[in-house]
Amino acid sequence: MAGRDFLQIPGPTNIPERVLRAMDRTMIDHRGASFRNLLLGLMPRLKALFGTEPGTPVLFAGTGTAGLEAALVNTLSPGDRVLVYVIGYFSQVYARMAERMGLDVQRVELPWGEGISGDDLESRLRNDKEQRIKAVLAIHNETSTGVKTDIPAVRGAMDRARHPALLIVDSISGLGCLDLRFDEWGVDVAIAGSQKGLMLPPGLALLCVSDKALKAGQSAKLPRYYFDWSAMIEQNRKGLFPYTPATSLLFGLDEGLNLLFEEGLDRVFARHARLAEGLRRAVRAWNLPLVAKRPELASDTVSAIRAPDGLDADKVIDLAASRFHVALGGGLGPLQGRAFRIGHLGALNAVEVLAIAGAVEMVLGSLKVPIDLGRGVAAAQSWFLSSNGTEPV
Ligand code: PLP
Repeated sequence: MAGRDFLQIPGPTNIPERVLRAMDRTMIDHRGASFRNLLLGLMPRLKALFGTEPGTPVLFAGTGTAGLEAALVNTLSPGDRVLVYVIGYFSQVYARMAERMGLDVQRVELPWGEGISGDDLESRLRNDKEQRIKAVLAIHNETSTGVKTDIPAVRGAMDRARHPALLIVDSISGLGCLDLRFDEWGVDVAIAGSQKGLMLPPGLALLCVSDKALKAGQSAKLPRYYFDWSAMIEQNRKGLFPYTPATSLLFGLDEGLNLLFEEGLDRVFARHARLAEGLRRAVRAWNLPLVAKRPELASDTVSAIRAPDGLDADKVIDLAASRFHVALGGGLGPLQGRAFRIGHLGALNAVEVLAIAGAVEMVLGSLKVPIDLGRGVAAAQSWFLSSNGTEPV
């Protein structure tokens, strides 16, 4: 087709030309000086991205799920209790993974579209008189429902309850898009994937680990070999990997980080907030509800939108793909057929958001949803003109 396809699933995201070009090169010796310079050059910028000074970045070849697994096996022992807020598909997967590993999982099941409440967490932790909970697993951004978590509120609850549990944060669809302050927010392990805010292909799990989590690792008894972060950290300090690294992805990461820091992290976060708001205004103009139950929960990286009653949301996705070459995300789990998702993260600008909104309007119009063509686009346009953005509109 002429022009380009729009990849508006909530990851993998669009890969900028510069990142593509950076990866388009032959392999180098991963035990040589060039590799050492590459890896050692990545580390300070990864620390800045996570918002840490003492924290230790760790990279594994694998997707985000690999990073989630690494966080558990390096900090916990069989039978350890973990508290998991299940607020959607991905937090559910994390709870299942923890169960499968033999952890004692205390699930807090909330209706999908709800968020984690600090007050609720505080009372649960206060009730844990023997402090059996070893870790709280919180999702920074639940990609299935488009709900974000106020991580400082989670940390505040843990501090008020004076609870020593580790705070493990899945920021797979947050890092590089949403503010994340590892040190300031007292996060112990943060996990991300390469294919979202970092604008790379999938295949790299990125973690940041606190000294407290490293210490917990010394007595953690869950079996691990590939995901043993102590071996990884020891080798990384020398500019090496304990096994073959995903070298191409590291070339890409180098350039992805360049892009993020050239723009400036604060501006990257502000851009995501502004683009998300533009899209939400379009959705409001279509009279379609978000899955997120309250405006303050709405994610700035993905919007999960409920299809009107009687319309199979998968038809929206199918038509967007087949007729307009726009890939939207499907509803996951119980939201399949009921909601569709628009990813607005990574390399994206306002004009692209308008194009996406325009395409979704045409899809909804074709499916006889009663909307006025152009209203959503106009609502987003007005927002982009009135809000103080810096990128070209
Ligand atoms: N957690 C969240 C919040 C996600 O968005 C995803 C993927 O989209 C995952 C976990 C799983 O990551 P991956 O598919 O990279 O293994």
